[in-house]
Amino acid sequence: MTNPEPRKQPQADPERARASIARLMEIYRGISETADEVSTRRCPYKNAQARCTAQFKCRNQYFTRVPADLPICTGSDKLDYSRAWESEKRLGSA
Ligand code: SF4
Repeated sequence: MTNPEPRKQPQADPERARASIARLMEIYRGISETADEVSTRRCPYKNAQARCTAQFKCRNQYFTRVPADLPICTGSDKLDYSRAWESEKRLGSA
């Protein structure tokens, strides 16, 4: 029985690799630009379920009756959310 010949690795096409990387960078740039734009109107403390993760008081927080629930963010994403912040007042303080 003879040893089979070692498999040859396919040769990379440098031009296709460059085009693929350029396309990937274009996709990442689009994601980054969208995130930058959204962050100008959506509060960074608002999670995907529209719950507030801030550790300070904010006039847009709506506390449910469930003690462990994060407050619901009632901010509209159309107004400047930071005006509602009372960041000198920590949650749990009077
Ligand atoms: S706007 Fe206020 S309530 Fe809404 S996520 Fe931001 S800090 Fe929380």
